[in-house]
Amino acid sequence: MKVAFPYMGTTVIYKKLLELLGNEVVMPPKPSQRTIDLGVKYSPEFACFPLKVITGSYIEAIEKGADTLVTSGGHGPCRAGFYEKVHKRLLEEEGFDADFIVFNSPYRDLKNFLQNVKKVKGDSSLIKALTSLNTVFYMIKKLDDLEKKAQKIRAYEKTVGQTTKVWEEIQILFDGAYTKKEMEKAYIQAMVMLDNIDVKEVKDHKRLRIGIVGEIYVVMEPTINIRMEEMLGNLGVEVERSQYLYDWVCYSTLSKMPLINKTHEKKIVELGEQYIPINIGGHARQSVGHIVDYQQRGFDGVVHLMPFGCLPELVSQSIIPKISDELNIPVLSLSIDEQTGVANTLTRVEAFVDLIKGRKNKKIS
Ligand code: SF4
Repeated sequence: MKVAFPYMGTTVIYKKLLELLGNEVVMPPKPSQRTIDLGVKYSPEFACFPLKVITGSYIEAIEKGADTLVTSGGHGPCRAGFYEKVHKRLLEEEGFDADFIVFNSPYRDLKNFLQNVKKVKGDSSLIKALTSLNTVFYMIKKLDDLEKKAQKIRAYEKTVGQTTKVWEEIQILFDGAYTKKEMEKAYIQAMVMLDNIDVKEVKDHKRLRIGIVGEIYVVMEPTINIRMEEMLGNLGVEVERSQYLYDWVCYSTLSKMPLINKTHEKKIVELGEQYIPINIGGHARQSVGHIVDYQQRGFDGVVHLMPFGCLPELVSQSIIPKISDELNIPVLSLSIDEQTGVANTLTRVEAFVDLIKGRKNKKIS
């Protein structure tokens, strides 16, 4: 079995898990213009943007030799629940052959979940599978911590692009680690690499912080969101995302255990419920909940990323102006699709940063 997966965020994590379970992994290439062109060409025109890009990613992975695609599912009105069926049909029609292993929440169908675990663990013993899971869980936590640190440092780097370069080197470092001990060593080395980045001194009261919220794929995949974190970092802004893998895994595994589930994500969902009382799928409720959370934590503004054709984010977008007014926090909503241009987006983001800078200076004086 030669396995691949959708390209999203810190992909070295998915690669490591599948490798430790004894699979041959085919890394899908980083999404590029070709990926988008392929996705747009072979997907229905009305499909949401992530579906199109993932179609392109799958085609590129199959071209590289993958015969099995491992992915997560979805539910509710969000289209992610139909991704497997739609992708399978699109790929078959175009002559691309691959099996799918789709992980839905174990709370929905435990039997199916365990069957899928059995497929990806192959011949590995249960003990080896559990050890691999534990190692990768540790890796997720460490990489998320490092990324959060990088997202702060980038705002003050003296050489533009240095933090991004170091972050890429850190991921390569972790790619070479296979045990918890090796990962711990990589983590210590990575911390030193980040601490060695030459930064400007900026007084606390002058620091700008922006939260990025929205649908998980466009929030987590920089090649699709026009490298929004870097764009903001280069403008001198500290960034925090609404989605990190560690929080998502913790919340997903504990979501139905109210007494144990004390995750921050649980609080976010509760904050979002006052504006979106029913679950409409995707991350609409979390997007709204995170805006409230960022306001409560003293952030200066929020960038809301919305994939074109995304139903849940269309709902959150319609409520956001009211929340922004009520809570007095500026929010910039950006629709992302294959037509989105860097120059146009940069102009809007620069204007937004100028606005929040002006507000901050007014508050200080
Ligand atoms: S959340 Fe939106 S973009 Fe993501 S799969 Fe669902 S409809 Fe598509």
